[in-house]
Amino acid sequence: MSTTKAYSRSRRMFLASLLGTAGGTAGLCALLADDKDKATRKDPYVGKRRKRRFQPMLGAGEKIRITKLETLKVQPRWLFLKVHTDAGIVGLGEPVVEGRASTVAAAVKQLETYLVGKDPRSVVHHWQAMYRHAFYRGGPVLTSAISGIDMALWDIKGKALGVPVYELLGGPTRSRVRVYAHASTPEAIRARSEEGFTAFKTGVFKHRPARIVETPGFVKRAAKRFEELREAAGDERDIGIDFHGAISPQTAKLLIKALEPYQPMFIEEPVQCQNVDVMADIARGTHLPIATGERIFTKWGFRELLEKGAASILQPDMCHAGGITEVRLIAGMAESYYAAIAPHNPLGPISLAAGIQLAGAIPNFLCQEQVHLGDGYIKQPFKVRDGYIDLPGGPGLGVELDEDALKEKIGHDWRNPQSYDADDGSVVDW
Ligand SMILES: [Mg+2]
Repeated sequence: MSTTKAYSRSRRMFLASLLGTAGGTAGLCALLADDKDKATRKDPYVGKRRKRRFQPMLGAGEKIRITKLETLKVQPRWLFLKVHTDAGIVGLGEPVVEGRASTVAAAVKQLETYLVGKDPRSVVHHWQAMYRHAFYRGGPVLTSAISGIDMALWDIKGKALGVPVYELLGGPTRSRVRVYAHASTPEAIRARSEEGFTAFKTGVFKHRPARIVETPGFVKRAAKRFEELREAAGDERDIGIDFHGAISPQTAKLLIKALEPYQPMFIEEPVQCQNVDVMADIARGTHLPIATGERIFTKWGFRELLEKGAASILQPDMCHAGGITEVRLIAGMAESYYAAIAPHNPLGPISLAAGIQLAGAIPNFLCQEQVHLGDGYIKQPFKVRDGYIDLPGGPGLGVELDEDALKEKIGHDWRNPQSYDADDGSVVDW
């Protein structure tokens, strides 16, 4: 008898001895069925993972040097990066702050001086140099420039070795990656469900920007809209709600209480993130998971959040927080607090590709945000099936730009909306 069979038999005998009465028969059957189900589950990495093999583009010991960094503004509001090398390998990244594409492009240009002539494969070393040699550390512009470059360097390293990035990081930890779509009406929930999504995110329904102290009507309308979304989605799909940091702490507490009966997947940015104590106070007042992270950068930014228990779902943006190198470390920090990672991503397909590679390399991944699967930008757009995207098998980030399709999408001047209170003209968050 094999070891597995012997274990299975001894476990059944043990369970039978515990439940050896007539009344225990039904429970025993249920346990044994569960036992059988677990025993027959397949290891997801057997077979499928090795179907696609790619040759290394660079032999062991061969030299490679960075020759140029090229940024491209791509519609609707993105910035793509190509890191060129003398070995013919081009790494892709997405270094952008929404509404500040030109500023980040300038930051990338400044970092080019350091990178040209260097071996791109020392990814972590270059991350340290770009971050620490700046003297003034962090902030959205520098970390977004580093994030895009970091993605591109991992892409080059993966292509050089002929393996996906998640393989280089010790993965895969999963065979497919759950993604969520934006949907703010019952019709949109139904349409996205038809497309294969099982998780969604909405904003707070409001007919005007929220005031510091809101009326019962404001809270009731927002809760009613979420109730309608829950009815459309049913109880087996997930819906997160993003307060966008545009609700005051006073109103956020009332609104969270009103939403609790409909069990949102998470409450995102219930308030702005600069004062972590305020968010921690809100987190202590509800059993719903608090999510935040799109405006937090590097491991140093996420440290305080975790230590104060302000959020249990971290949403670092692959394009802002420090790239694959840094978000993997943030995930490790989060794991020690039983917190999950759900990368923020309202950006393009390279950002999505980086998030998918990360998901394939960490244990505490929850769900990946996406707004575009890459059709018209990359040669093989991502496909969603049963709520998931299969882990890609291609080398590096696993995506190639569709250069012909891109030609007509080059250039934009996207700016952030400017919002004012309709009653008194004061500046409000959007
Ligand atoms: Mg958000």
